[in-house]
Amino acid sequence: MKDIQEIFSLLNQPKKIVIVMHLKPDADAMGSSLGLFHFLNQLGHTVTVISPTNWAEWLKWMKGCDKVIDYEMNADKADAILDKCDWIFCLDFNTLSRTRKMASKLQGFAGTKVLIDHHQQPQSECFTYGISDTSKSSTSEMVYDFILDSGHADKLNKDIAECLYAGVMTDTGSFRFSSATASVHRMVADLKDRGFDHSKIHENLFDNFLENRLRFTGHVLQSRLDIFYEYNTALISVPWKDLVKYQIKTGDTEGLVNYPLTIQGIKLAALIIDRDEEIKCSFRSKGNFDVNVFARNYFEGGGHMNAAGGRSSDTLEHTVQRFIKAMKENASQLQ
Ligand code: 5GP
Ligand code: MN
Repeated sequence: MKDIQEIFSLLNQPKKIVIVMHLKPDADAMGSSLGLFHFLNQLGHTVTVISPTNWAEWLKWMKGCDKVIDYEMNADKADAILDKCDWIFCLDFNTLSRTRKMASKLQGFAGTKVLIDHHQQPQSECFTYGISDTSKSSTSEMVYDFILDSGHADKLNKDIAECLYAGVMTDTGSFRFSSATASVHRMVADLKDRGFDHSKIHENLFDNFLENRLRFTGHVLQSRLDIFYEYNTALISVPWKDLVKYQIKTGDTEGLVNYPLTIQGIKLAALIIDRDEEIKCSFRSKGNFDVNVFARNYFEGGGHMNAAGGRSSDTLEHTVQRFIKAMKENASQLQ
């Protein structure tokens, strides 16, 4: 993978570009992709954004989101665009498997692939150019750097600012994680100078749900939460029937895994959800417990030191038992 700076001089010739993010995109994946989309459009490129799967309702306020293609719904249309494009930007994921059904298409793509990502252990050999920096708060921050470093700061408009702010704000837990460095705050100050309403973005992201989601959260915290004080660990396990009963949609469970970390002393929080097609796991930690390693070792996943995800093809009950066994094996690091 060559340094991303090497593509700056190539940005001047119009190209057909596709931007791809990880499956079930969060605000950083969608925000960084749409921020880059608005930027590359201004440079005269023909740009298409593709998501491997559908995405949450609460991302739909982002400008350009209505143009994003859902690969699972429109594979033929997306494949036709991918077949003709010159460049593919891959944002906010480290391995092609994070694009689910798109992975083989991306693997076989003969053109230029560019990675912009902040997850650990990137599959660098799959990309022509790129930047992978785990010290960065978010891919949105990296897209901001990309725009500035390429010498086009004048193109950073309000639409881009809104998308990038959403990504950096959510990936830093509203600026509370240690990843919210001084340069993150400087970036936000710069975006503010370009004129956008940050409170509106918080409202769009956090005050934009339906009643069922809040009722579901209440139910889950009351009835599906187990705490293992001996291991400073909390686990929420959600059966498929709960998702059906409360009509839970993509994105409605985002943030749920953080609640147990509000309990004194809890160092590891896990959320295991039976999504019917597979079991999805989310892990969050405080301090030195590395959930990236934990997710990799036990749940075919990965992510960051304090936030990672994974999956399981067992039943919910077996996955929970496997989690408890894994927790016990890590007892010394959880003390
Ligand atoms: P979440 O629990 O919100 O799905 O994911 C937490 C973090 O881990 C995010 O940065 C996400 O991109 C990453 N992540 C989630 N699942 C996986 C996975 O299966 N593999 C890898 N490498 N990263 C993941
Ligand atoms: Mn991210």
